Amino acid sequence: MLKNNIKISYFALIISFFNLLLYHLPFFRFVTNNLDSSSLSGILLIGSLVLIALVLNTFLFYIGLYISPIVGKFLLVVFAIVNSIAVYFINTYSVIIDKTMIGNILNTNLEESSSFFSFGLVMYLVLLGIIPSILIIKTKVVRVKFKKFLIHIALTFIFILAFVYINSTNWLWIDKNSKSLGALAMPWSYVVNTSRYYIHKNQENKQQILLPNAKIKDTKKSISVLVIGESARSKNFSLYGYEKDTNPLLAKQNNVHTYKASSCATYTTAGVKCILEHKKSNELYEILPNYLYRNDVEVIWRTTNWGEPTVNIKNFFKRGDLEKDCEGDGCNYDEILLNGLKEQILASKKDKILLVLHTSTSHGPTYNKKYPEKFNKFTPVCESVELAKCTQQELLNAYDNTIVYTDYILSSLIDQLKQLETYNSAMFYISDHGESLGENNLYMHGIPASIAPEEQLEIPFIVWLSDNSKELKSNREASQHNVFHSVLDFLAIESPIYDESMSIFK
Ligand SMILES: [Zn+2]
Repeated sequence: MLKNNIKISYFALIISFFNLLLYHLPFFRFVTNNLDSSSLSGILLIGSLVLIALVLNTFLFYIGLYISPIVGKFLLVVFAIVNSIAVYFINTYSVIIDKTMIGNILNTNLEESSSFFSFGLVMYLVLLGIIPSILIIKTKVVRVKFKKFLIHIALTFIFILAFVYINSTNWLWIDKNSKSLGALAMPWSYVVNTSRYYIHKNQENKQQILLPNAKIKDTKKSISVLVIGESARSKNFSLYGYEKDTNPLLAKQNNVHTYKASSCATYTTAGVKCILEHKKSNELYEILPNYLYRNDVEVIWRTTNWGEPTVNIKNFFKRGDLEKDCEGDGCNYDEILLNGLKEQILASKKDKILLVLHTSTSHGPTYNKKYPEKFNKFTPVCESVELAKCTQQELLNAYDNTIVYTDYILSSLIDQLKQLETYNSAMFYISDHGESLGENNLYMHGIPASIAPEEQLEIPFIVWLSDNSKELKSNREASQHNVFHSVLDFLAIESPIYDESMSIFK
């Protein structure tokens, strides 16, 4: 195959065959799990899927290779490499490659993606990516005559149409499972969904729609601190009834209240958007920090994370900015967000302050690297990035330690706020989404919200208030959209879009 010249028609067929063989194990695992594979109709359907995948891919590869053998081969090499990585993540983390997941991947920074690096990934890359690529590059292909090409394509096209028609009874099953099947068909899952992601982003990249002007009602000094959690799920907080003591410090603080809450999405960009916007919308309205900043409130944003809509304020501090005046071991972890905080607040000349801390503590898969050594309370912990290789207990221990560390950060923040005696202060802690830790063989997050398990949706919403600042309504359920209105209420901001029923305060 390597030395002899091979016609591109055969080459396309061979590539299509190996494409099916090497990268479609998850695809056919899904099919056999979701259909009675011992019945005749089940076997026929599987056979049909194999045949149509083989023919359709041959058809597409053939056209691509005919138009330009060099570009065609280059694309096949790219597909082989990306396929190998995609199959690794599907097998290891049960991810679903849809538009949202592509968005997550494209928005992930280098530091975060390097935490996925593992021996398993290298093996997949070499065996399923690099070796097939070398064979593709070394194979010499020869063109077929244009007339022959046209005949091949026409016949294949007619075959596909006839085949689809004959299999019309299977359409219902395929349609019902199209989302999962589409996400597992290589390389089209990421090719199609990357295009969909960019089309969507283009539409979304419009300016934030400005909200009507707001007015500050009084001159009482007050501060709202919004702490945005990362992948924190309420189930593992002892404040929410978890049997392990993950909130020893918050449990001792007065005026701490918990709300039962669900996230609107299972990934960061959408979860953070919901926390910052005044109502659920596909549009992008002016987000809370921008709105308050424009209306003369002091707004400070400190982050070790990413994924928020554009924040247009003066005081925006990333990890690198905060590192400059930070000393000690804690600077490598999320407590860097608290460094010099009180001084920064006291330096403000304004009566009303919104402070946002965007944390990253519970982000997987390297949970055990997200907290300083002394918070290694529950052991042994999972140390592999291939989460399925750890026991459930090791995984939970590592994750629970991130919650213990979060408990420390929140409690320290409260202690700092208590020292600001001239201010009324409130702290809102809410997570962007939850996290799966091996339940139903799912890990991390990102499953579409409509079918996501409760672990990825049930989030902590914890509120602390300084003495005599404000009273809470009696209900104990809330959503991410309560944040916007509650902050406005607490800071005494009058606005036409303020919705009294959405404030948690009386
Ligand atoms: Zn997140």
